[in-house]
Amino acid sequence: MLHLRRVAQKNLIRAGKRSVGIRGLATAAEPYDVVVIGGGPGGYVAAIKAAQLGLRTACVEKRGSLGGTCLNVGCIPSKAMLNNSHLYHQAQHDFERRGIDATVSLNLPKMLQAKDQAVTGLTKGIELLFRQNKVDYIKGSASFISSTKLSITPIDSAAESQPTEIDAKNIVIATGSEVSPFPGGAITIDEQQIVSSTGALDLKEVPKKMVVIGGGIIGLEMGSVWSRLGAEVTVVEFLGAVGGAGIDDEVAKSFQRILGKQGIKFKLNTKVISAEKVDGKVVLQAEPAKGGAAESLEADIVLVAVGRRPHIEGLNIEAAGVEMDNKGRIIIDDQYTTSQKNIKCIGDVTFGPMLAHKAEEEGIAAVEFIKTGHGHVNYNAIPSVVYTHPEVAWVGKTEQELKKEGVSYKIGKFSFAANSRAKTNLDSEGFVKILTEKETDRILGVHVIGPNAGEMIAEGVLAVEYGASAEDVARTTHAHPTLSEAFKEACMAAYSKPIHM
Ligand SMILES: Cc1cc2nc3c(=O)[nH]c(=O)nc-3n(C[C@H](O)[C@H](O)[C@H](O)COP(=O)(O)OP(=O)(O)OC[C@H]3O[C@@H](n4cnc5c(N)ncnc54)[C@H](O)[C@@H]3O)c2cc1C
Repeated sequence: MLHLRRVAQKNLIRAGKRSVGIRGLATAAEPYDVVVIGGGPGGYVAAIKAAQLGLRTACVEKRGSLGGTCLNVGCIPSKAMLNNSHLYHQAQHDFERRGIDATVSLNLPKMLQAKDQAVTGLTKGIELLFRQNKVDYIKGSASFISSTKLSITPIDSAAESQPTEIDAKNIVIATGSEVSPFPGGAITIDEQQIVSSTGALDLKEVPKKMVVIGGGIIGLEMGSVWSRLGAEVTVVEFLGAVGGAGIDDEVAKSFQRILGKQGIKFKLNTKVISAEKVDGKVVLQAEPAKGGAAESLEADIVLVAVGRRPHIEGLNIEAAGVEMDNKGRIIIDDQYTTSQKNIKCIGDVTFGPMLAHKAEEEGIAAVEFIKTGHGHVNYNAIPSVVYTHPEVAWVGKTEQELKKEGVSYKIGKFSFAANSRAKTNLDSEGFVKILTEKETDRILGVHVIGPNAGEMIAEGVLAVEYGASAEDVARTTHAHPTLSEAFKEACMAAYSKPIHM
């Protein structure tokens, strides 16, 4: 049974549809088996899995809705805007050559509403999953009192609420990440004119000019959305390439060229040093990354997309004795255990790529370690996807990584321009690039830029996960006509020769 000590009479913690009154909770004797702090993709998946494994589980979430960054202000709303802005752009610029005459106009409020509906539907869906799996959903902010005791400040009827306390045998920290402020504090995000990704998902009108600071995945996705809807977008990137960490250099070059053709301007090797509001505009000063004369850029909206950092605010982590590194990441071992034996940590708040599916996998593995002592995540087989058009997706090693590691490798490449389905769809930009170990033909990396790359990469992930050789994939029948035949042909190219190129 639950053990929750009453501090205030009026307090109420809701467990899904069931409201668990504080009086009922106060009579309970046993601590929870697992309490997960944070209801994002890492936390909610961990909670469901823990309950499925027979552990009595609660998940504490302070946002007021489940799904974390991903469902509320990340993956899901951005993909809703990407999908619908792509359709709008296609209707405007691409329909005619396909024999479709249509006049379209943008209804931005409705597009934003469609995005919000997608978010609400999915976040409510997790509440349902919690009820089905008997996970107690505690709406509140968790703060450590000790390594086994949490103080919960409920978010419902906040004025009357007082903190309550909750005991747990095991705690999983899954508190995620937050927007990194601009380095040195030179630019302040106001979410009106100088926005983070959160503000960029909810602009009430299309800006005439938009400057995106940061050419990583989030910057390029949001830049694409507003460019398609009519904004003049300039991406300013400190590094010499776009796409962020982990992208293959050759793919990055091709990606930038294609986005450039779509109208997005790039200023690479350039450092933004300040942004000031002047007469309703934002005036930025930018200089070459290596130093030199500064130039001015003007924008109606500036998107600061310089990264995210671990989120531990309000957690009072010191009380739990949990250690962090100098970047604010919670330190864990290979079983997700922190410096406290009964506390595990997963997702964006610890090491590794800040990706929803990585957090989910860790959530499952962490509670499996709690229940069974075994769990596994293959960090060599975590895909990354940029949901622009064309999409970019990859898994495993890049060519530059293989060179650096001194691995002898072979390249198999196949262009979508030679793929029948891509040609039929009049959507044939990009290629599939396979990197294999020279001696064994084992697939070490898969890099795709092209239509539906985000779906196609699943085959690459499977190949890397199972240690497939290029020949294994090449000798596997792929349906015709499909885009996935380009993957097969790239594999043929890696170990022998492709047929159609
Ligand atoms: C614009 C954008 C687009 C993205 N697109 C993608 C994508 O397409 N694919 C992808 O894989 N990833 C994407 N991401 C990244 C993805 O959202 C994160 O990697 C993922 O959400 C991390 O999951 P998490 O569970 O670790 O943390 P989060 O999702 O950040 O969830 C943590 C939760 O913990 C709660 N919390 C924090 N502290 C407390 C506390 N003390 N008490 C109670 N609750 C607390 C927070 O309110 C939050 O809801 C995107 C991110 C952004 C910003």
